[in-house]
Amino acid sequence: MNYEGKTKIVKVTGDYALLEFKDDITAGDGLKHDVLTGKGSICAETTAILMKYLSEKDIKTHLVEYIPPRTLKVIPLKMFPLEVVVRLKKAGSFVRRYGGAEGEDLPVPLVEFFIKDDERHDPMVCVDHLEILGIATREQAEKMKEAAVKITLALKEFFERANFELWDIKYEFGLDKDGNVVLGDEISPDTFRLRKKGEIFDKDVYRRDLGDPLKKYREVLELCRSLNSQ
Ligand code: UDP
Repeated sequence: MNYEGKTKIVKVTGDYALLEFKDDITAGDGLKHDVLTGKGSICAETTAILMKYLSEKDIKTHLVEYIPPRTLKVIPLKMFPLEVVVRLKKAGSFVRRYGGAEGEDLPVPLVEFFIKDDERHDPMVCVDHLEILGIATREQAEKMKEAAVKITLALKEFFERANFELWDIKYEFGLDKDGNVVLGDEISPDTFRLRKKGEIFDKDVYRRDLGDPLKKYREVLELCRSLNSQ
């Protein structure tokens, strides 16, 4: 069974699935779209390094192994149709919705759930919505929240070793065959905001037309490789 999304192709083969990262980059519910040669391999390897780091911290992810250049072998998950965002600093849609300045600290990590639905512009929902809409049980939602904060703090610590600031990040979770809530999808500059002294190392470079996004994506991969080998 194959499924093709905006940036990945999923091929389920027996006990495993193959996640092939495409070179496509999109923003604004898919309205802005480009192909950046080499992006897929950069995001696949970045995801592999960061998920391996998380597994060393006893956090369960779907990663089995990185198959260069652009594929991850993963355990198949029944995905929740959700984006789980954790914010450490104000940015993006938080600032548009609630005000404040980009980069201001939040007093504690904030977790937000969004339903994946481009036509409805990914509506933000609370745990009651998830339960009433039959998307996730209260218990599953609490597990996602807890895991999302733990993962974010672990990644914050990882990047802080090189004085980079993790501002916010998006996760997608699913259930494994035993019903455990497991981190799926990817962790890359497509899915987090990463800054150093005001310099942008994430998809905002693309969203806001601030230069060559791939140059920054490559630098993040190099950073992950070097932090990983320390
Ligand atoms: N994000 C994502 N996919 C989405 C929406 C957001 O990976 O479809 C990430 C985004 O890169 C950022 C975080 O989630 O790191 C929070 O994004 P926000 O809600 O501020 O939305 P945006 O400003 O991107 O519209």
